[in-house]
Amino acid sequence: MENIADIIKKIELILDEASRLLNGSKDLNELDFQFKIFAGKKGKITEILHNIHSFAPEEKKIIGSKSNEIKNKIEEIYLSKKNKLISIERSRPLSENKIDLTIPGASFESPHKHPITAVLEETVNFFMSMGFEVVEGPEIETTYYNFDALNIPANHPARDIWDTFYLLNGLVPRTHTSSVQVRTMEKKSPPFRVIAPGRCYRYESVDATHLFMFNQIEGLFVDKTVRLSDLKGILEATVKYILGAKKTRFRPAFYPFVEPGLDLDIECVFCGGKGCNICKSTGWIEVIPCGMVHPQVFKYVGIDPEKYRGFAFGMGFDRVVMLKYNINDLRLLYQGNIDILSQF
Ligand SMILES: [Zn+2]
Repeated sequence: MENIADIIKKIELILDEASRLLNGSKDLNELDFQFKIFAGKKGKITEILHNIHSFAPEEKKIIGSKSNEIKNKIEEIYLSKKNKLISIERSRPLSENKIDLTIPGASFESPHKHPITAVLEETVNFFMSMGFEVVEGPEIETTYYNFDALNIPANHPARDIWDTFYLLNGLVPRTHTSSVQVRTMEKKSPPFRVIAPGRCYRYESVDATHLFMFNQIEGLFVDKTVRLSDLKGILEATVKYILGAKKTRFRPAFYPFVEPGLDLDIECVFCGGKGCNICKSTGWIEVIPCGMVHPQVFKYVGIDPEKYRGFAFGMGFDRVVMLKYNINDLRLLYQGNIDILSQF
């Protein structure tokens, strides 16, 4: 049977072993594991205390105080080793992964707006600086707003120009933003000046200059004294500001909702007016169909054409972006090709 000296010896041996293994631990996990083996609730010291029932109370006291002393020493070793391991851990990234300032940085492509969005915002801001307010309308329209109220009755040949696809319920994806003119005049009483940017849809075969979907900015200015010269001044200022156009001209044109109707052309930006295949050898490119609001359109919305006058325009916006950036194929703007879009 073991005597008290054997037990004390055993406890002292535990300290030696613990000291060796704790100090030899390579990381915090191993250190915690070793600590539990010697000084944990089910560790080697606790195990010895469970087996001293046969000793006298005086002896038990001696064994208890010895094991406490050893436990404390093990804990001291544990804490000091723990601090060492933590400081090694902290210094590791600095000593092992030194930063090489001569290595080129990772390239970071800064995001930017799609050219259509960027030019659209620029244009909208320009009109707002001239007192225009932005209004919106639905992309799916009734034929009344898209045609009839714009003086394009069902049986009139003029509707052929905008012949398009219809939905099964008789509604139509709007063929122009001009429908917003009618909706605006129904709601607002003059004077007002508004622009309506938005998507439009037409039955087109897709080629370099046509898509079945396109962007337009509609403009409408109604007041008692609005004149054709106001239209000319504002639209000329617009193409000069947005496109840097040097030369402009107005040509008579027919649109059922304006009288007189005009087209604003700018000198071809691709050939400088000499003539090329993009301007069809004319030296001019049509940019903004426009005109004075037809009295019949005013009558549809209950505005007295004897009292009020107005001008309206519908700028094909994708074409403006093409001209601004010398893009010769409209489809490039909608393909989502980063190599192309990142150039703008
Ligand atoms: Zn040209």
